[in-house]
Amino acid sequence: MLEIIRIHNELLGTYGDRGNADVLAFRAKLAGIKARITDISYPDELPSTGDIYLLGGAEDAAQALSLEAMKKKMALNKAVKKGAVVLAICAGFQILGSTFISRDETVEGLGLLDVTTAPGSRRLVGDIAIKSKFFAEPLTGFENHGGVTTLGSDATPFGRVIAGNGNGIAGVDGIAGVDGAVSGNVFGTYLHGPVLARNPEFADLLLARALGATNLPASIEANDELAQRYAQWRRSVIK
Ligand code: GLN
Repeated sequence: MLEIIRIHNELLGTYGDRGNADVLAFRAKLAGIKARITDISYPDELPSTGDIYLLGGAEDAAQALSLEAMKKKMALNKAVKKGAVVLAICAGFQILGSTFISRDETVEGLGLLDVTTAPGSRRLVGDIAIKSKFFAEPLTGFENHGGVTTLGSDATPFGRVIAGNGNGIAGVDGIAGVDGAVSGNVFGTYLHGPVLARNPEFADLLLARALGATNLPASIEANDELAQRYAQWRRSVIK
């Protein structure tokens, strides 16, 4: 049984990223994989035994509270050491970094990604498209953030920005047209949507990683009309 853990949705649920868990469970079912979603609330102890962990977007104060709770036992870091998969969106992505600077405070992050976030020159709101090396087709989403994220020397971007801003405005905030960061099975991105609802092949990649496989069963990849329709729709949106 694959366990999908949704972390602190009452704090990290502002932007509807909770849907990522539902898409993972749905895609798992299509592939014949048994999966269950476990919601871990802010006062609950976070288990380190999950297979996939999900963190969503939030306001600065809520994300600081979630981070503080996670730092007590560092369960997410323990799970990652054991090979768990993590998908973190926007505030969630910022939490995974080494430092998060808001207008009110500077907080040390979980250090799972070598990135630092600080307030940007203006809030970045709108559609975003990126090309990630993990997928043949571009991914699309919606971004809404004030923080800009700088990659350290150990960080690899998740994708190159085709439209929108991602980690920051190229040339203004000093970020060179990239979105997110990846390290092993840890994925951080600014794409809301929820990103897995708009880009089901990303859900399949996360499931495959959680199973230690390179791909999901060919049946769902080859005959997946839904994923193909999405890819077609995204191509038309980007043009
Ligand atoms: N509070 C963060 C920012 O504005 C994250 C916002 C979000 O998660 N959408 O940068």
